[in-house]
Amino acid sequence: QTAVFSDIHANLPAFEAVLRDAEEVGVDGLWCLGDVVGYGASPDGCVELAREHTDACLVGNHDLAVLDELDTSTFSSAAAAAVEWTAENSKPETLDFLRGLEPADTSHAAALYHASPRDPVWEYVLWPEQAAECLVVQDRRVSFIGHSHVALFFSAEEAESAGDRPPEARGWQAGAGARLEIDEGRWLINPGSVGQPRDGDPRAAWLELDTDSWQATYHRVEYDIDRAAEAIERAGLPEHLAKRLFVGR
Ligand code: ZN
Repeated sequence: QTAVFSDIHANLPAFEAVLRDAEEVGVDGLWCLGDVVGYGASPDGCVELAREHTDACLVGNHDLAVLDELDTSTFSSAAAAAVEWTAENSKPETLDFLRGLEPADTSHAAALYHASPRDPVWEYVLWPEQAAECLVVQDRRVSFIGHSHVALFFSAEEAESAGDRPPEARGWQAGAGARLEIDEGRWLINPGSVGQPRDGDPRAAWLELDTDSWQATYHRVEYDIDRAAEAIERAGLPEHLAKRLFVGR
């Protein structure tokens, strides 16, 4: 049993709640799909937990921006301000850890990408047409992505032979408790976001994966949003970044 999660975004109360919940469920592995920092006020605490506990951890676009390895001109002003704040307020070992990560990891039973199989850093996969093209190029039958902060999944039948047209993909958003039988076909699955959900459910998101039976279960867990919001305000980060946590948008 593995817990798969993404987009922690320096939200320590949310990350702690997910780790607690995953432990209660009884997982024995943790895969993080990136964006450990950015937006929130606890980059050091979140990176420390990720470093200690994850078995795989990717780097995301916000992490790369903090390392000055990605141009922030397309970031919103609040996101860019958070990137600047994070770069100035993180310990050197926090940045060192992020610098050692890659945006994709295909060494496990399922392939992991921060954003998408064909563009691990930037592409937001939100539509079935897009997902169909991703499903044929992904390195494993089942892959996981983060980045959009929306808990959703896409699936398609296995192509009859290599070089066939991309199969038609179907996709849905997934609420708490949704369970997927993923033992057949191709799957592209987003667990949602730990620290800044944008699918209307403000609870922290993670996904439970069983690679023996190939089942995946979506989880949401309540956390102390007040504490995360107060930390953002105390840090002098844009107020909007605190407010959006309460509505999950
Ligand atoms: Zn993100």
